[in-house]
Amino acid sequence: MSLRFGQSCPTCGRRIKIRMEFLGRTVACPHCRAEFNATDKQPRQGNSEQMLMQRVERALRQAEDPAFTE
Ligand SMILES: [Zn+2]
Repeated sequence: MSLRFGQSCPTCGRRIKIRMEFLGRTVACPHCRAEFNATDKQPRQGNSEQMLMQRVERALRQAEDPAFTE
């Protein structure tokens, strides 16, 4: 069984079906051969995920170093 999800190529804008096992990996567009990161989210939402990770990292740093202040 091969589950797929649709994503638009950020370079040529064409809709591509990507297999679920490639989620989070770098894939190449079959149309223009551009490489991009496979994600089932829109790029804008991906940014908020990155910001969340930065917040988690900062919180971890604060926990490690009690003297750390912003
Ligand atoms: Zn493309």
